[in-house]
Amino acid sequence: MADDQYLVLARKWRPQAFDNVVGQDHITRTLKNAITSGRIHHAFLFIGSRGIGKTTTARILAKALNCLEADGPTPTPCGVCSNCAAIAAGNAIDVIEIDGASNNSVEDVRELRDNIRMVPTNARYKVYIIDEVHQLSIAAFNALLKTLEEPPPHAIFILATTEAHKIPATIISRCQRYDFRRVPVPQLITLLRKILDKEGLAATDEALHAIARAAEGGVRDSESILDELITYCDGEITFKDVFDVLGLVDWQLMHDICDAILAKDVTRQLVLVEEVVTAGKDLTQFVEELLRYFRNLLVCRTANARVLIHLPEEELDALSKRAEKISLTNLIRLVEQFSELVNNFDSQLAQRIALESMLIRISKVGVEVSLDTIMDKLVALGQGGLGAATDQPTPAASTTAATPPEAPPKPESPPDPPVAGPAKPAPAAPASKAPIQVTPENMIRAWDAIIERSSHDDLNLLTWFKLGKPTGIDGETLRLSFSSANKRALDFVQDRGNQKAMGEALSRHTTNLTSIAITVQEDTSAKEAPSSAGKGSDLPVSPGINAEEAKEALKDPSVATIVDVFKGRIVDIKSVTSGDGES
Ligand SMILES: [Zn+2]
Repeated sequence: MADDQYLVLARKWRPQAFDNVVGQDHITRTLKNAITSGRIHHAFLFIGSRGIGKTTTARILAKALNCLEADGPTPTPCGVCSNCAAIAAGNAIDVIEIDGASNNSVEDVRELRDNIRMVPTNARYKVYIIDEVHQLSIAAFNALLKTLEEPPPHAIFILATTEAHKIPATIISRCQRYDFRRVPVPQLITLLRKILDKEGLAATDEALHAIARAAEGGVRDSESILDELITYCDGEITFKDVFDVLGLVDWQLMHDICDAILAKDVTRQLVLVEEVVTAGKDLTQFVEELLRYFRNLLVCRTANARVLIHLPEEELDALSKRAEKISLTNLIRLVEQFSELVNNFDSQLAQRIALESMLIRISKVGVEVSLDTIMDKLVALGQGGLGAATDQPTPAASTTAATPPEAPPKPESPPDPPVAGPAKPAPAAPASKAPIQVTPENMIRAWDAIIERSSHDDLNLLTWFKLGKPTGIDGETLRLSFSSANKRALDFVQDRGNQKAMGEALSRHTTNLTSIAITVQEDTSAKEAPSSAGKGSDLPVSPGINAEEAKEALKDPSVATIVDVFKGRIVDIKSVTSGDGES
């Protein structure tokens, strides 16, 4: 491309016929039918976000109405006659393009009304394309309304707007309304690929995906990004080029943040945010990128990533490695939290991802509860609130759901007798964590209280150690019995690191215990399910559910926790993609 002939791609490849408009088939088909059948409305309202083809379609419509190659309006304007050429070049006398933002006074509209009375010079119709029409003043709208009510037969109005809600209903009701859609990523990619082919240039698939995603459904945006890249790149356009040109946050930084979150290293996280801000990156974009990143992790964790995430292989591998380290519950929570954060920035991405994580939650976690609710309940458990807050205590709850000693949530609730010595805090005081003195007499209830407090430290501790039954106290050691049937629980609780963590939790939450000792109880009945306690070998399932499958499902900590906390039942079991182990 010689510099003097340089045209931006959006202009160079602007569609000149209805069939070339990308992603708006529902509109171009209707317009072509209207023209063919001779039912041409005198006022059109084109609604949709910027850069998705409203003005382009308006110009094609103007050509269709005025092409000289046909005897009347035609759905396929020739594109070469003097009218078509003038309209394409933007200098047709009878096609008047008005920017609503700068011609929004009542005088402007009056002038337009005077102008409308004059018959077209070279064309069948005078076409008025008013862009950003929502910017007109109220007085201008009123003047426009008068024109729309009694338009001369030779006048056609095409009003275009990104903000339909700002247009008076009286105007909308006089127009035929067309809603333009954001263009799906695959169609944008096809378009970009076509342009590159015509320009004799190359780009990787991942690069085009990244461009299309960044354009968020906008044809013009995708074309101008491609323009920049063509100027920037010497040879083939790669994924990395797109990141460099768009100023997207470096992927390594995403990985670093993820690792810091996994390590709960707050200092590192804040240092990384500082880096982003210092580098002058846009925080909105950064948060969106983070959301996209964790969404990708969630997809890696739950579905076929290669099909759904369009990233280079090495990036997919890096994602998969991290996805395996995060529990599904945590991942969903992260995605939801970032989604909520992005939501405050009013983004399309957030809506889509909120939808996706909800879908994953209902199909993988198996119960339609918001994670917030689960978290609230778990927090309530940790503060000793749930037992008292539960509407009615179930018989089975007497051993599993403890009513820990302090801080009843409602003053009117009868206070529970304390498990051990420490004085209850004043009712107004926040829930305190006075250590519990554990005795053989109170150890079962105390154990529940300890486990619930530990849930603040680590959800895994709650999930697995909760399955143990205290059987005695030796000095500073609590003996816990686990059923041999639950292999995963045994693996977890027999791990020395986990035992140490539990011992530390005991030191924190009790006055007299510092370690645990595990005994294994041979048991082939269904007692390993945490909420099966209380009534023999009954599993918390609905009739018709296979007991073996239910047991298997209950080994999943998220399922077990939900069933237990919500006193739920398993009503359906679906197997999920292979290779997907929930930790
Ligand atoms: Zn023509």
